[in-house]
Amino acid sequence: MKILVINSGSSSIKFQLLAMEDETVLASGIVERIGEDEGLVKCTFKPGTADEAVVKQREVIKDHTSGMRLVVDFLTDKKTGVISDRSDIGAIGHRVVHGGEDFHQPTRITPEVMAAVEKNVPLAPLHNPANIDGIKVARELFADVPQVAVFDTAFHQTIPPHAYHYAIPYALYEKERIRRYGFHGTSHKFVAGEYARLVGKPLEQLNLITIHLGNGCSMTAVKNGQSVDTTLGLTPLEGLVMGTRSGDVDPAIHAFLARNCNLDIDAIDNLLNKESGLKGLCGLNDMRDIHDAIAAGDQRAKLALEVQTYRNKKYVGAYMAVLGRVDAIVFTAGIGENDEVVREKTLEGLECFGISMDLAVNDQRIKKPTLLSTSDSKIEIWGIPTNEELAIARETQAVLQK
Ligand code: AMP
Repeated sequence: MKILVINSGSSSIKFQLLAMEDETVLASGIVERIGEDEGLVKCTFKPGTADEAVVKQREVIKDHTSGMRLVVDFLTDKKTGVISDRSDIGAIGHRVVHGGEDFHQPTRITPEVMAAVEKNVPLAPLHNPANIDGIKVARELFADVPQVAVFDTAFHQTIPPHAYHYAIPYALYEKERIRRYGFHGTSHKFVAGEYARLVGKPLEQLNLITIHLGNGCSMTAVKNGQSVDTTLGLTPLEGLVMGTRSGDVDPAIHAFLARNCNLDIDAIDNLLNKESGLKGLCGLNDMRDIHDAIAAGDQRAKLALEVQTYRNKKYVGAYMAVLGRVDAIVFTAGIGENDEVVREKTLEGLECFGISMDLAVNDQRIKKPTLLSTSDSKIEIWGIPTNEELAIARETQAVLQK
């Protein structure tokens, strides 16, 4: 079966077409700058093979419907395309950011499911409407094709009440569903599953700390294969230091900024989500640039790296306490896979807790699952590349096979 994975954002549609027999990627790409003066479609056919071909096209892309039509045109193009007709697509898997408390697992899309996703828009006002647009357009263009929603929050629905409640008036949970939800669930679940597969043990018997460090960052405590705590909260702002997001701050900062800096709610939201994190500390949000700046003597860049890795370490300690026994710590995503310095600094000094990294092995970019700990480390350390598209495709197939 061929599965099309769609990740629809406010002005972009990322897509990937996979052949599930051998999980090969037939095509992947992005439609960008939807609704702007000039849009761009980029598609890579048969990536990573000798036949790889990249096609780009610039044109006005009015809306998501036009964007999705272009994706179909690219995939079915007589010369470069990888399918002859849209009916070759057996199923579509959609990334949906917020499933609230309604979705504990990936779910086949029906009108009732759409209504529940709409209901959760206040919890993810930037993301869910764009995801809904993508689903609506796909359902229009592929009316007969089964479609599945895979939620970033679903894996974390096993977090117990003592970990998901904020200590604020209970009525706010009852009325507004204010609580910790957590995100990046597809990625945490994927790398946890990969670890179990690699070591040949059932996931239900494993306790892990999974660390997703990309542009967005989060850490999850996985107990007996289930998420029992995670750093992102009601929204994807809490916890670790991210590219442009602050992570944890004293919540009173909001009131302070409003009273003393004359900022309104939108300005504060913008400041904490888009102007903070690594960027807020040193003006740079890409870890590669930060290393270059450190090499050039930039003290703020050094501080940004220290603040991020210190926060990581603090949460590793917290989740060791949450889990008791920890089998492995797994790094993944852009920084987690590529940045040996961040991995090393995150875990340095934890040898007394049985965490010992093999610095020589760690000194590489992780292209495939790699054991990074010394042979006498009580807790294994791994780098495992995440693959959210493949995870969504697998989840989609599993829902349809049920
Ligand atoms: P992601 O959100 O998982 O795509 O991760 C994107 C982030 O990964 C970028 O913003 C960079 O900070 C980081 N990144 C990507 N490649 C590298 C690299 N070679 N070395 C260090 N960091 C990297």
